[in-house]
Amino acid sequence: MSNASIYPYFLGPYGENNDLLEKLVVEFLRDHVYWRRNLYPDDPPAIPTRASDTPEFMEFEARLRRELHSLSAALKRSVPFHSPRYLGHMVSDVLLPGLAAQFLTLPYNPNNVSVDAAPVTVDLEIKTGLQLARMLGFSTDTTKADCSFGHLTSGGTVANYQALRLAMALKAFPVALLAANPPGLSLPEDDWQAYNLTPDQSIALLSNWHHWLDQQSIADKQHYMRRLHVERIETRGLCDFFTTHLDLVVPSVLAPITAHYSWSKGVKLLGLGRQQLMPVPVRGMRMNCDALHDIIENHLKQQKPILMAVGVLGSTEFGTIDPLHELLRERDWAAKHGIGFSVHVDAAWGGYLATLFRQEDGGIRPREEVCSEFSRFPDTEVYSAFEALGHVDSVTVDPHKLGYIPYGAGAFICRDQRGMELLAEEADYVFSVNKNDDYFKRYRQLGRYIPEGSKSGAIAAAVYVTHSVMPLDHRHFGKLPRESILAAEVFQQAIQDFSRRVSNRLICYVPFEPDSNLVCLALNPVGNRDIATMNNFVRGLHDILRCDPGVPLQRREYFGSITTLRPNTMGPEDSRRIYDALGLDLIADERGNMPEDSLVILRHTLMNPFMIDSENDVSYIEGYFDFLERNIDALLDTNNSRPMTVLVTP
Ligand SMILES: *Cc1c(COP(=O)(O)O)cnc(C)c1O
Repeated sequence: MSNASIYPYFLGPYGENNDLLEKLVVEFLRDHVYWRRNLYPDDPPAIPTRASDTPEFMEFEARLRRELHSLSAALKRSVPFHSPRYLGHMVSDVLLPGLAAQFLTLPYNPNNVSVDAAPVTVDLEIKTGLQLARMLGFSTDTTKADCSFGHLTSGGTVANYQALRLAMALKAFPVALLAANPPGLSLPEDDWQAYNLTPDQSIALLSNWHHWLDQQSIADKQHYMRRLHVERIETRGLCDFFTTHLDLVVPSVLAPITAHYSWSKGVKLLGLGRQQLMPVPVRGMRMNCDALHDIIENHLKQQKPILMAVGVLGSTEFGTIDPLHELLRERDWAAKHGIGFSVHVDAAWGGYLATLFRQEDGGIRPREEVCSEFSRFPDTEVYSAFEALGHVDSVTVDPHKLGYIPYGAGAFICRDQRGMELLAEEADYVFSVNKNDDYFKRYRQLGRYIPEGSKSGAIAAAVYVTHSVMPLDHRHFGKLPRESILAAEVFQQAIQDFSRRVSNRLICYVPFEPDSNLVCLALNPVGNRDIATMNNFVRGLHDILRCDPGVPLQRREYFGSITTLRPNTMGPEDSRRIYDALGLDLIADERGNMPEDSLVILRHTLMNPFMIDSENDVSYIEGYFDFLERNIDALLDTNNSRPMTVLVTP
């Protein structure tokens, strides 16, 4: 693996690039100070030159230093995300451009809630949204009404809330418009039809409504806008909305069982209720679109509307990628049968993998070209999923995951920005937002559209500068996900070698062929058929793979994480396959239901770009498996020297 071109990207596992970072931080801190001094140079310094000689000042400084020393000391117990020995959660070292831009911006303290508090960084955030939109394959021509739009959030969780909010606004708007009944505007026939338009149809209706308004007298215009306002779900609230429209019910949100728990939080927060979140079965931890089809048909039969179908692009636990192309086919089928819904892709984890498929000119790379860089990636289904990405309604991407940006950076991006006005606080009655209104001008009042209020402009600067230094295509930013997937391929090979080495003691099994850079590994002592024993064994391993505040970091050699597999969510096929491979007994109850047990397995996130150090001929991947081997023997020894009952006691 040749990763020399990524050498300047990070501070580095050993702090190798400290000179560069220090130079940048000092240079731009000074630059900030010059700015303060030169803004009103004739204003006398408010803090006297000799202030620092006073006892109070010195006492304060001493206290500050004491606290900082103790903070700095405590932080040495942090999880070493930057280290190539860290293969645990979805985090690694942060990119130097982002860190430098954030340091640089912090003393200016811009608040991206609006342009008034962030004259510079609000625009950077809007541009960041467009950079991400381009990576996903959305249109980014801001002179076109149907241009995409994206903004940052504190993380993927809040971006998912925003997706729900927008989908709900678009779903309910046509019902409200029908109730407001503007004469002469072509409207849906009834509530059911209005409530089941696709997001695109709903946006088209919204545009027609604006055109209609433009042709009315000022008095009529205001009259009908107020009528609409009263009917909106955002005004009435769910309860009143559904008692006004007794023929309508709360819609479902369909998400695969691999979906992140932010979806559960989201449906609760929106007041839809947890029971509206319908799990779609999976095959190999990827959405089973045949099952999705059945669920949609059932909704149709029961006249139960659907708000949204969520596709996961890189599941949090397994890195698996849903067949978005099939999901879109189901959406189109459903629309044809009069049950429209939006498709949101939760790409909090996998979003940046799209750079691997993106040409510099924004086009999509042919599959053969992408394939030529890897031994297995991308599977045809994975390729088709990325190809389909540009046709979904909205996407969540986390810059603070595979974007290698410091925390506090998620993103929500929608394909067609015209729906966003439905989310705006204080709808503007004076002018219609669709008309002659500059894209940037509109979104500079960002706080009107987003779930959050005050928010960091520094993080927006960090993301924007990173994307500008490393454009989101395969030649630039794509180098990082490429390293990461290559590492995952090496890791899989290493699993096979390891598996052979320990085959007399341990069964090793990769339960799901990885779609990207997250690899899970199930381990069971040879001859063991009992789940509790296997789980105890894996937990024992995890105990030495996780940060323990009571144990000095240096005593830890590697860091990994665990996840669980539940037969009752995996379905019988996958469960049987995995239990068989591991030599475990799968005991269904008399009704054939899968057991409630969960299998504890190791989970590895391979995003550190320095895992294979060809310069020093060090492979932390090999090192990891050597470490496992040593400790597996130790764990198995303890197991053998003790009665089995000790093992099964948690
Ligand atoms: C991480 C993750 C989230 C949540 O994102 P946060 O940034 O932790 O709020 C949502 N969905 C998926 C698929 C994720 O991997």
